[in-house]
Amino acid sequence: MALRTTMMAAAALAALVVVGAAGPAAAGDVVIHAGRLIDGTGKAPRAQVSILIHDDRITGVQAGYVAPAGAEVIDLSNATVLPGLIDDHVHITMAFHKGDPIHTAMTRTNYDDAIEATGDARNTLLAGFTTIRDVGGETEVVVALKRAIAAGVIPGPRMWVAGTPLGPTGGHGDAANGLDPELNHPHWTDNLIDSPEAARRTVRTLRRKGVDLIKIMPSGGVMSIGDDPRLQLMEDDEIKAVIETAHSLGMRVAAHAHGKQAIDHTIALGVDSIEHGTYGDAESYKLFKAHGTYLVPTMLVGEKVYEHAKTHPEDLNPSTAQKAIETVPRMLQNLHDAHAAGVKIAFGTDTFGMSNHGENAQEFALLVKAGMSPMEAIEAATWNAADLIGDTADIGTVQAGRYADVIAVAGDPLADVTVLEHVQFVMKGGKVYKAGGRAVGP
Ligand SMILES: [Zn+2]
Repeated sequence: MALRTTMMAAAALAALVVVGAAGPAAAGDVVIHAGRLIDGTGKAPRAQVSILIHDDRITGVQAGYVAPAGAEVIDLSNATVLPGLIDDHVHITMAFHKGDPIHTAMTRTNYDDAIEATGDARNTLLAGFTTIRDVGGETEVVVALKRAIAAGVIPGPRMWVAGTPLGPTGGHGDAANGLDPELNHPHWTDNLIDSPEAARRTVRTLRRKGVDLIKIMPSGGVMSIGDDPRLQLMEDDEIKAVIETAHSLGMRVAAHAHGKQAIDHTIALGVDSIEHGTYGDAESYKLFKAHGTYLVPTMLVGEKVYEHAKTHPEDLNPSTAQKAIETVPRMLQNLHDAHAAGVKIAFGTDTFGMSNHGENAQEFALLVKAGMSPMEAIEAATWNAADLIGDTADIGTVQAGRYADVIAVAGDPLADVTVLEHVQFVMKGGKVYKAGGRAVGP
């Protein structure tokens, strides 16, 4: 199951957590007594801290346990408290449906995906991820989901969404790859761009539809049919037109790129993040640093696809298993080398069902395995992830002025980062969604 709880840890916290009404309710004045606080800034943890909250915002962080008159006290004095986690690479409207993915693509509708996503958004929130950056889904579906969550209609993380990624005909993201060329769907060609003009028009159209950032596919991919992840498939002038138009509209650009040429060219053209980055080398890492570009290494999808390619290749598209077995072992080495070279890392799992929505925190152990310290891995999912989104003023740290997005675990994630896979307490915008390891409210 996506939401595993450690029963002992849950029991230890259950007695200590005070929650007001039966469901999430407006917070008013609240103070959290944190036994230990890792605030997301990278500073050393502090013991016995009070986090003061008014409505949906943190108003202060004070040493010692204080109890202002009229404030509800949430006792997390036996726990480690952190900012709500951020996953900068998910596909919340995509889930794994066992069996042939072509059959799935031909039989599921956007309505199926939209309804299923409401549960996956809730699972992601309950796992402690109070913010996600969705880097690829049917535009109208992810925008509608974002709006429903923001309006409080359904529980879920804050969302920054890219809508449908832009890519070339025959590239990663061309839904017709590998199919009978006479098949058609009204939206399959919406985001295929084969010129700078098409790139500009498509970016502006996505903005009109309500996206927050743009995703491009300059290299081939692993999950798609036929296209080669090692090759650059978008031309430089197309990449440049996307980046310039998106930036002119105040939007960031995330680039799916495996091969070195696609990585290096896209960074030099001013992209904000490289997703996957599999075949980067020392020259690439110099470019990352020179341009301040983030790497989003997506280790979890790599591990899960690799396992699946070995055990159930029939569940993958034709050519995917072979591509996964060739590509994935390189991902761990790339992250190790990029981190050692000082490249900025933001946390992203590429959750689309290879790992379940709500299992996002399994990425932490893989980041540590590649050479990051637990504190660096936590920063990747807090301040760094917020910085890549472009909103450190609101999310990513437990500091005055930020949203009251706060989680707690029963243990020390700096000693064992996997305790983050068992989040016991989740508050988003001052509302408690999970306490004592159990969901609160509907
Ligand atoms: Zn992805």
